[in-house]
Amino acid sequence: MNDDADLLADARRAVVEYAPALADLTPGRTGNLSVRDGDAVAVTPTGVAYDAFDAADVPVVDLDGERVAGRMTPSSEVPMHTGIYKHDRPGAIVHTHSPWATTMATLHQSLPPIHYMIVSVGREVPLVEYAPYGTEELAVNVVAAMAEADADAAILANHGLVVTGPDLETAVENTRHVEDLCRLYLQSSAVGEPHTLTDEQLAVVEEKFESYGQRPDDR
Ligand code: 13P
Ligand code: ZN
Repeated sequence: MNDDADLLADARRAVVEYAPALADLTPGRTGNLSVRDGDAVAVTPTGVAYDAFDAADVPVVDLDGERVAGRMTPSSEVPMHTGIYKHDRPGAIVHTHSPWATTMATLHQSLPPIHYMIVSVGREVPLVEYAPYGTEELAVNVVAAMAEADADAAILANHGLVVTGPDLETAVENTRHVEDLCRLYLQSSAVGEPHTLTDEQLAVVEEKFESYGQRPDDR
């Protein structure tokens, strides 16, 4: 391993910038996040508090999971991160044990389209069959479930949540959306049976999302 402090400097800075967001999403040192640049990935170190490392500590791994830079040992979930990157090539990945999504995970419940905001990550958030944390088996299960559902998020049975995005800002924001949708699903299920949106209704939202937000010439 070389210890090139400049390797993936922007991605490592992004990991340091966004890691504290995990602190209010997931208990203790659980969860992890990563950013991809080409065939290299900057990822949170394993078992370290989210404000207790700097960019030089942030491990960089190749897509085989080998550490190529960084002072600290990478997340135990590198196989899941590299597995997703190899299959899907997103720009960033966030994994949490956030309480509402993890409640769904304990119930072995996927998230149906109960609210239009689900379109941020697909038309449903699939449930991934249980495998121990940090294993290739879990990585294979996650990649298969996300591909089958065509979703950028998945609920890991008896474990937590994983969300992908083009960059870390989007992946963190969409993690918050999915966590909130899981809360809504569980709240409404406690009272009655939540209604779901149809494929036609979801297709309309997908089209509207193409032009949602400020345009470059606004303001
Ligand atoms: P790491 O601290 O190794 O990233 O592991 C946390 C976790 O959530 C494992 O699933
Ligand atoms: Zn985990």
